[in-house]
Amino acid sequence: MALIITDECINCDVCEPVCPNGAIAMGELIYGIDPGRCTECVGHFDEPQCQVVCPVQCIPPDPAWPESRDALLAKALRLKAGSAGSAGPAGPAEPSVPAAAAPGIAPGMQAERVPAAESDPGLGAECGALRESRPAPS
Ligand code: SF4
Ligand code: SF4
Repeated sequence: MALIITDECINCDVCEPVCPNGAIAMGELIYGIDPGRCTECVGHFDEPQCQVVCPVQCIPPDPAWPESRDALLAKALRLKAGSAGSAGPAGPAEPSVPAAAAPGIAPGMQAERVPAAESDPGLGAECGALRESRPAPS
């Protein structure tokens, strides 16, 4: 499952550069995680690198995004395939919804409110179906 940054974030900036998927970006107030790009670091590292470096341990798993390890690995492979052939490594994640759409809410949280196709067009049917089957966030 994707991870989520809570409002305990102190904006220390150390997690963004360690994410292998460019899933972390600064939101309007604090950093956020794009669940369409977070693989819990599966396919890259043995443990989530953002959790390793976060000094206040404010990056728990997001129960709104249940994904098996196989699904996370498939997502990682799709992200790698999507970045192959580009001029360089994947850059910071683009917020899935403009910050103005939900002031004060980090990009990762905003992403929960949009369909998979808008959040990450590169995702395949597996993750898209997974998202559509989720209950709507409260
Ligand atoms: S768990 Fe890994 S992929 Fe997910 S946001 Fe953290 S560093 Fe990025
Ligand atoms: S490492 Fe933790 S406190 Fe620092 S910016 Fe990332 S989420 Fe926020």
